[in-house]
Amino acid sequence: MRRQDAIRCIAMRHCIAVVGGGPGGLTLARVLHRHGHPVAVLERDPAPDSRPPGGTLDLHEGLGQLALDKAGLLAEFQALSRPEGQAMRILNPAGTVLRDWQPRPDERAHPEIDRGQLRDLLLGPLDVQWGREVAQVVPGTGDGVLVHFADGRQETFDLVVGADGAWSRVRPAVSPVTPHYTGVTSVETSLDDVDTRHPDLAQLIGDGSVAVYGANRSLVAQRNSGGHVKVYTKFRAPLDWHAGLDLADAESVRSHLLALFDGWAAPVLDLVAHGTAFAHRPFHVLPESHTWAHVRGVTLLGDAAHLMPPLGAGANLAMLDGAELAESIAADPEDLDEAVCAFEERMWARAGRWAKITTEGLERLVSPDPAEALALFDDVQPS
Ligand SMILES: Cc1cc2nc3c(=O)[nH]c(=O)nc-3n(C[C@H](O)[C@H](O)[C@H](O)COP(=O)(O)OP(=O)(O)OC[C@H]3O[C@@H](n4cnc5c(N)ncnc54)[C@H](O)[C@@H]3O)c2cc1C
Repeated sequence: MRRQDAIRCIAMRHCIAVVGGGPGGLTLARVLHRHGHPVAVLERDPAPDSRPPGGTLDLHEGLGQLALDKAGLLAEFQALSRPEGQAMRILNPAGTVLRDWQPRPDERAHPEIDRGQLRDLLLGPLDVQWGREVAQVVPGTGDGVLVHFADGRQETFDLVVGADGAWSRVRPAVSPVTPHYTGVTSVETSLDDVDTRHPDLAQLIGDGSVAVYGANRSLVAQRNSGGHVKVYTKFRAPLDWHAGLDLADAESVRSHLLALFDGWAAPVLDLVAHGTAFAHRPFHVLPESHTWAHVRGVTLLGDAAHLMPPLGAGANLAMLDGAELAESIAADPEDLDEAVCAFEERMWARAGRWAKITTEGLERLVSPDPAEALALFDDVQPS
């Protein structure tokens, strides 16, 4: 912990560490900062731009946008985000357009923002400690919660919040549960300068996303800012489906995917054929009802607490978790433990509801019957 923060911690009695500078951890830190409470953000990445930030996120009115409002950042989000990115076109594998949904000009239910833009917005004045990988967290030591870092150093805090994602190193301090594979995996690729280099594909994707659903597989292409497009193939497969395939060899992966989606319309396959690099992301989840017996001085939020299928909710929930925990602490700074208990009850109830929704959603989106995916779209999309 930095000297200035340490002095303020002593004055305010509580030293809080947030492990992980993703959407959840940064929102927690930013709202605490807004309430004048010092916090140490411990992030494994050596620098903010040490790896590509990932694709675009849609932030929902009652979730991610509410969290940004609590951080005092809603107006800046509205200026940066892309409401037109809510547009959604659905095709069948033959290339026939089945749905072509365009948002109204004033539609703000879930505009898109690039992950990198969101990270920078949340970072603002925060003094993140980059390159600080946490290895283990040990509660119940006489002085508080002991944090062991990967470089061998140790520090003690009053509260350690695990916002360190799916493979959390904080989680074992409160829960023995680990994520399990859903049976659905994803291979992701991307296209740059799509408007100039691939104008036909740019037209196919439009301002938002195009999704194509077949039996037990799907392909979604999503526009990010600056003409960048992320393409996600998803399919049911055993975890070791790539045995014998070199995932680092882009040409081999491309050929494998083109064979997997053989027979689909040429423009849809072009989204894979023109992809530059490929990343494999199997979908793991925590149990829908994951909770734990409260442990004094340690808690979790976001994916570390409730990893669920990526159906547009995870970052939103992580951010609202972060904002609500910060508000709970700010409302009751004298009793940190009580504030954390109240937060956990609220988070568990909300996460349980969303885990059920997203688990059922994944079953319908990557289903033996592609009509299920269309029906799900019709169920959730305002007409
Ligand atoms: C393809 C895809 C698309 C998605 N689209 C959406 C969407 O549109 N909307 C949405 O709401 N959600 C979406 N999600 C889900 C969303 O990405 C996650 O739910 C969200 O990022 C979780 O945020 P988090 O802060 O809990 O964790 P993370 O974003 O995983 O952040 C964890 C942070 O902790 C750091 N860290 C990890 N281990 C350590 C350690 N030991 N020590 C220190 N630091 C550590 C990591 O470097 C990282 O910065 C999508 C997910 C995927 C895979």
